[in-house]
Amino acid sequence: MQNLTNRAAAVDRRPMNFAERLYLPAIGKGLGITIKHLFKKKVTVSFPEEKRAFSPVFRGLHILNRDEEGRERCTACGLCAVACPAEAITMEAAERKPGEEHLYREEKYAARYEINMLRCIFCGFCEEACPKQAIYLTETFAPSHYKRSGFIYGKDDLLIPEVPTKG
Ligand code: SF4
Ligand code: SF4
Repeated sequence: MQNLTNRAAAVDRRPMNFAERLYLPAIGKGLGITIKHLFKKKVTVSFPEEKRAFSPVFRGLHILNRDEEGRERCTACGLCAVACPAEAITMEAAERKPGEEHLYREEKYAARYEINMLRCIFCGFCEEACPKQAIYLTETFAPSHYKRSGFIYGKDDLLIPEVPTKG
């Protein structure tokens, strides 16, 4: 039979001799490999104490941004949800009421905004689709959870905290 690659090795089926049956040469060979690796440069990092540098194009956990006056930028237009190939974004729009101009920049805002991080593939299409620069992908991982519900990120998790005003 013709080999598909040149990596095929012939199997040695001869009966083992006395030295081989002692397994000492094989154990010595294995220890030699282990000792050789002790002096090699490590390819692993001791996460979480040691962190690997992110790639410049890394896309992580989302944030919902505010404008320079601390108002929510999102106008619940739904373009991010439409652009999302994983259908991970859901939202409910609400009308801004008189007196809420300091909270929401536009006349409509997202009363509920959720991203299912188990669906998300961190493609960044939502960020690209947003006309209000309201959603960004950061250089942070989505932390692990014991329950699936912990991966549904609502506005409380996504919205960046309000900058405290100096009084
Ligand atoms: S990063 Fe991609 S998959 Fe994740 S919510 Fe945005 S558009 Fe959807
Ligand atoms: S995050 Fe941007 S694209 Fe998504 S609903 Fe808000 S304003 Fe529209």
